[in-house]
Amino acid sequence: MSTANRFNFHTTNVRQTQSLAKKIAKLLLPGDVLLLQGPLGAGKTTFTQGLAKGMNIKSEVTSPTFILLAQHEPSSNNLALFHADLYRLTDPTEVMELHLEEQASDGVLIVEWPDRAPEMLPKDHLLISIALQKIDHNARTFTFVSAGERAREIVDGLQSQL
Ligand code: ADP
Ligand code: MG
Repeated sequence: MSTANRFNFHTTNVRQTQSLAKKIAKLLLPGDVLLLQGPLGAGKTTFTQGLAKGMNIKSEVTSPTFILLAQHEPSSNNLALFHADLYRLTDPTEVMELHLEEQASDGVLIVEWPDRAPEMLPKDHLLISIALQKIDHNARTFTFVSAGERAREIVDGLQSQL
C-alpha cells in the first residue's frame, strides 16, 4: 500500500548520507531514475558515491568536469549506474543527444542538476532535493518526492526501513 509520496530525512554527516543512499540502492530495479537537486556542495556526488557502493560498483564516482554522463559497470549480477551531471550544460537540447533514458534502461540513472533541463528528463522519477542548513554546516535535509509508481515503491520501501 502506498503511503505519502513525499517525506524528509535529515543527515548530520557524510556517513549518514551514504548510508541513506545505500539503503536506496538495495531497492532499485532496471530503468529506475533518480534526480538529485540542490546547490553546489549539497552532497549530490557524495550521495551518488554511497549509492554506487550500495550497488556494488567498484569504479570511482567523481564530479565530472566535462563528461556529462559517466557509466559505471556493475561487478556481477548487479545493475550498471549511469551518472549524469548537467551542471555544465549550456543548451537543454544537448541532453537529448545523451539518450539518457534509452542508455540507462538496463541500469539505474542518477542525474545531478536536473533543473538544467527539466523538460528533457524522464517523467517517472524519484526527485531527491538536498538542502543545506545555516547553523550546522554538516547537516542536510533530504526531501523525497516521487513521480510515478516505481518512485513511489522506492519511497515506501525506504520509509519502512528508516
Ligand atoms: P554536490 O555534488 O552537491 O556539489 P558534493 O557531494 O561534491 O556536493 O560535496 C558535498 C560536500 O559536503 C563534501 O565536501 C562533504 O564532505 C560535505 N558534507 C558535509 N556534511 C555532509 C552531509 N551530511 N552529507 C553530504 N555531504 C556532506
Ligand atoms: Mg556534484
